[in-house]
Amino acid sequence: MSPEKLPQLVFGFVLAVIIAYAAYRVRSLSRSGAWAAVLVGTIIFGLAGWRWSVLLLAFFISSSLLSRAFKKRKLGLNEKFSKGSQRDAGQVFGNGGLATLFAGLSFFFPGEAWPWLAFAASLAAVNADTWATELGVLSPHPPRMLTNLTKAVEKGTSGAISFYGTLAALAGAALIGALAAALNPIAQPSLFTYHLLLISLSGLLGALFDSLLGASVQAIYRCPQCDKETERHPVHTCGAQTTKIRGWKWMNNDWVNFACALMGAVVTLVFMWA
Ligand SMILES: [Zn+2]
Repeated sequence: MSPEKLPQLVFGFVLAVIIAYAAYRVRSLSRSGAWAAVLVGTIIFGLAGWRWSVLLLAFFISSSLLSRAFKKRKLGLNEKFSKGSQRDAGQVFGNGGLATLFAGLSFFFPGEAWPWLAFAASLAAVNADTWATELGVLSPHPPRMLTNLTKAVEKGTSGAISFYGTLAALAGAALIGALAAALNPIAQPSLFTYHLLLISLSGLLGALFDSLLGASVQAIYRCPQCDKETERHPVHTCGAQTTKIRGWKWMNNDWVNFACALMGAVVTLVFMWA
């Protein structure tokens, strides 16, 4: 590493510690989540730079605010999801691990556009998924299973989609897409619209892939006491032991989020190189 990069790395680390600590204090992050955020933040703020930081913060701030908003209307739904609104290390790496990898790769491939676009697409996908989850539950109509659109299911069911949720996903992806097109470190102004559309579409497809996994291979449990489907394991919010009803045991919500991010990045890279 060149010596002139060192101050930025130190600054990035300090900024990451401040933000992670603040998020821990307002209970957006658990203790393990805060440590994970320090690592992610140091690489993105300190190694990759401010453009990358803006995209990460757009995801982190918008998803934290949305998970706090409409709390009353969402009451009772949180028990369906595996974790509450306090994100732990698994969630931080599930959502931001792949983006961190591409941000780190940008250090070794300066002057190339692909790490930036893959970074943006992976964040667009998890942002789309978060917006869809947080805003989709406000839909006036019950969602339907992605694998069987004629089947209406309870709100919050893994693998269920709604019109509102899909629109929210597109908006969440487009926010990251617009920022990615505007802040591209390899100035490509003639490609602004193409990059906006590419990242938005990749984000939406990533979020839909997340729902597809939720409807098929994600580990889903049942609480015998409440007679409800849940992602929570081994114990439900009521304290009873949950038992697996479908999916692969290891395919928890964190891996599903990672796959969502991966799908977003793969779609963008395939389009770029096709
Ligand atoms: Zn229960």
